[in-house]
Amino acid sequence: MIQPNKVKAEAKKKEDENFKFRSYLKGHADEDELDRQFLSLHKELFADYDCSKCRNCCKMYKGSIPAEDIDRDAQYLGITSEEFIATYLEKEEYNMNYQTKHMPCDFSQEDGNCKLGDCKPDSCKKYPYTDQPERLSSLLSVLDTIEICPVAFEIFERLKKKYRFRVRR
Ligand code: SF4
Ligand code: SF4
Repeated sequence: MIQPNKVKAEAKKKEDENFKFRSYLKGHADEDELDRQFLSLHKELFADYDCSKCRNCCKMYKGSIPAEDIDRDAQYLGITSEEFIATYLEKEEYNMNYQTKHMPCDFSQEDGNCKLGDCKPDSCKKYPYTDQPERLSSLLSVLDTIEICPVAFEIFERLKKKYRFRVRR
């Protein structure tokens, strides 16, 4: 598995190849079969991967906090909702949700755990979405995660092998 601190640079090197593989999948892959392949690789590769040693997803994004999570999260941290917003959050530009003020995410802790514990947003729990359905129509998002997440990067590399994909030069 690629090291977390190398994944962005390696994904950039493979940007053209990855985009071509995305187009190949669009033209050749069966939607349900591709979801099964993603899910199987996700389970296999995350089974013994320690995310606390990586945390690229907390370092390279701001945390996105849905408005409906605010009261619950504030309660979890033992502060008021107003204090929670004032201390940690700012409004996202195009919707009613919030994001953390800083990147790495303000809830990211030294030990790799999230300060929000089980209250972390659903989007964080689901990241990198490689076990979610409709991967074929989400391949552009997959390309984004490949630049951040070593496991998503490896899943895409394994899929290339599975489909015997080669870039024609
Ligand atoms: S989900 Fe991916 S990016 Fe996030 S900590 Fe785990 S391996 Fe790293
Ligand atoms: S909310 Fe927690 S899990 Fe989500 S990005 Fe921030 S530190 Fe990571």
